Amino acid sequence: AKQQCRNSYRFFEQAMNADVQLQMQLQQDLRQAIDNNELMLYYQPKFKATDGSMSGLEALIRWQSAKHGFITPDRFLPLAESSGLIVLIGNWVINEACRQMKVWSLQGHRDCSVAVNLSALQLQHTSLVDVVAATLKKHELSPSQLVLEVTESTAMHDAETSLKVLNNLSALGVAISIDDFGTGYSSLLYLKQLPANELKIDRGFITELEQGNDDEAIVQAIIALGKTLGMRIVAEGVETSEQQMLLTRLGCDILQGYLLGKPTPASASPLSNTALTS
Ligand code: C2E
Ligand code: CA
Ligand code: CA
Ligand code: CA
Repeated sequence: AKQQCRNSYRFFEQAMNADVQLQMQLQQDLRQAIDNNELMLYYQPKFKATDGSMSGLEALIRWQSAKHGFITPDRFLPLAESSGLIVLIGNWVINEACRQMKVWSLQGHRDCSVAVNLSALQLQHTSLVDVVAATLKKHELSPSQLVLEVTESTAMHDAETSLKVLNNLSALGVAISIDDFGTGYSSLLYLKQLPANELKIDRGFITELEQGNDDEAIVQAIIALGKTLGMRIVAEGVETSEQQMLLTRLGCDILQGYLLGKPTPASASPLSNTALTS
């Protein structure tokens, strides 16, 4: 039995080393990913609950690695964050999303906005404000066509700097959205201070919404809170028409989820297929 134990420990150790090596390899390759054009953005549409019209899209990063294949953000964003690479990658995302939104805007979609997710580390750099301002200028994109999504915990991380950066971003005229709302630890006092225009109810409250549990009451309370603070309410992860109907009835402004549209490359987005002529 002792021998077996030792063998399984050795096996465990080898597996650990292999994993650490893979993580290190991934991190190294991620460094090249921007230059190798391996990063791309998918776009998931958001719709107005009341009339079903499209209000905007959320940019979601993908890594199509020549070496490792298709890698989801859950796997490489933690590496990008721990290595600090997220700042470079994040700047690439902002530029690419604005460039694409300008293309759609010129095709007539001037009422649509693009949402970009921000990491905690990006909000620690006051230079983010200059990056966003310069990128909007470069693409001649209206600030009203850009939404920046931050999670509560993202904004809580060194709250003082984050708050300053968010206030300066807000002053540029871009919208600030609080993502994954209800999962973080922010106090209501802090929430009140955030210059947020939009609140996204976390998917965790939506998944079992129609099953008659506490989720409906929680969602109702979040909507009331958000509206009291003057925010637009978005529900993410809408997968069934029951959820769609209930959320609309509860007063959600915007809906997003697989039921209404999955993330796709820009070329397959509903916006690319409905060029307006105006
Ligand atoms: P998130 O911002 O909360 O984005 C929503 C995630 O849920 C996306 O996963 C999306 O594909 C997925 N989703 C959308 N609708 C549904 C639905 O109806 N059902 C289910 N089960 N899932 C749905 P994805 O694209 O894998 O992104 C995961 C997370 O990675 C994002 O969560 C966001 O936190 C982060 N992320 C993605 N792109 C970026 C980026 O460019 N920068 C940063 N900093 N983070 C990003
Ligand atoms: Ca998001
Ligand atoms: Ca979210
Ligand atoms: Ca999330």
